[in-house]
Amino acid sequence: MLSVSEARDRLLAGLTPLDRQVVRIDESLNRVLAEEVRASIALPPFDNSAMDGYAVRAADVGTATIGKPVILEVSGDIPAGIVEARALTPGAAMRIMTGAMLPDGADAVVPVESTTSPSAMSGVELPERIEVVSAVGVGEHVRRAGGDVQPGQLILQRGVRLGPPHIGMLASLGIPSISVYRKPRVALLSTGDELVEIDQAIRPGQIHDGNGYALAAATRAAGGTPLRLGIVPDRLEAVIACLEQALALDADLIVSSAGVSLGAFDFVRAAIEREGRLEFWRVNIRPGKPFVYGSYRNLPFVGLPGNPVSALVTFEVFVRPMLDRMSGMAETARTHLRARLTEPVGSDGRESYLRAIVTWENGSYQAILAGSQDSGVLSSLVRANGLIVLPAGSRSLPVGEEVEVWLTGGLGDTAGQSETPGTEILSVDRE
Ligand code: AMP
Ligand code: MG
Repeated sequence: MLSVSEARDRLLAGLTPLDRQVVRIDESLNRVLAEEVRASIALPPFDNSAMDGYAVRAADVGTATIGKPVILEVSGDIPAGIVEARALTPGAAMRIMTGAMLPDGADAVVPVESTTSPSAMSGVELPERIEVVSAVGVGEHVRRAGGDVQPGQLILQRGVRLGPPHIGMLASLGIPSISVYRKPRVALLSTGDELVEIDQAIRPGQIHDGNGYALAAATRAAGGTPLRLGIVPDRLEAVIACLEQALALDADLIVSSAGVSLGAFDFVRAAIEREGRLEFWRVNIRPGKPFVYGSYRNLPFVGLPGNPVSALVTFEVFVRPMLDRMSGMAETARTHLRARLTEPVGSDGRESYLRAIVTWENGSYQAILAGSQDSGVLSSLVRANGLIVLPAGSRSLPVGEEVEVWLTGGLGDTAGQSETPGTEILSVDRE
């Protein structure tokens, strides 16, 4: 049976970043940058004050103390956004607000707190002179032009997923739109004769299509666009007809749930074997051993197990990296940590992802199981904030042992809930 890392390597091997598109930066949250960004201007663009106070020549106030203040004439008033045309003369100060451009001749700012004057408070009139009660050095409380970013500097690398700081930087540089990779379009189908839509009441023997929604949410959280094809009956022809629909919708990847085990009505693998190409159908992972990978008419196809926890965990382990690769990222970002077990854990020797609750206590991370590890028990995944990763072959670990944990939040938190309404078809629901 394939190991988890072999399986992941094979899943990623054939994938390349999708094509690029230009978007406004206000629609770029969680998109992956397809170009590198260099600054065309300096940040800050000009020398400016870091404090509300007085622009001075440092040499004029070098001796100032509380006992022996230095008195300066106030020769000007500089609010933010204004250019003071006159230069500062020796022995004078100009009132200046945070972010305002320093006048020629000034080389430091005395914060208002270092004067006896309350004159930076709103509505207070400009005083004729001030008493400075502590010295400032050259450059103190001054933000130098280019101190943050120099013109020509490489600011953002290709392949970075854009968050609020990146978008703020682009805006600060006056860059209104940028090139990003297209979001992967993921066709999602839920197979199973027992499934009914969520707005229908269940009859005996039926369950709601939980996976359809969980996987759509996971797709969105991973920066993809879910195309929900809905529920497909356990019949070979029905599965194939649905795969055809995915083709017609121009999907980049097809993801199904259920119908991949050894049951008498499991037709997903058969459909791929007959009409597509089967690459592998089992991985040494718990939960999620029945995991199908192949292609359907050149579209990559992933058949996830039906059990809700298996579906979401294998999505995290295998599908999110695929979406990241298609989105143009070099690597999937995950937060790992080492935690101490506060209860013994065990598994059956497969590489195991155990639902856990991680807390910070007495100077170290501690991990406890979030409840039942049965792959049908979704409530323990709801409760968990991480997954303990047990390597293959590890069958039991005692209390106090250090384990690796992936901090998953609610699985998929890492990429945030990215939607940019109005820019793309977000879902296709079949009646
Ligand atoms: P299967 O792989 O078809 O044998 O399904 C394994 C288990 O997952 C069964 O208990 C199914 O009822 C359940 N299951 C299948 N599809 C879904 C779904 N869309 N949502 C929730 N549970 C499902
Ligand atoms: Mg089934």
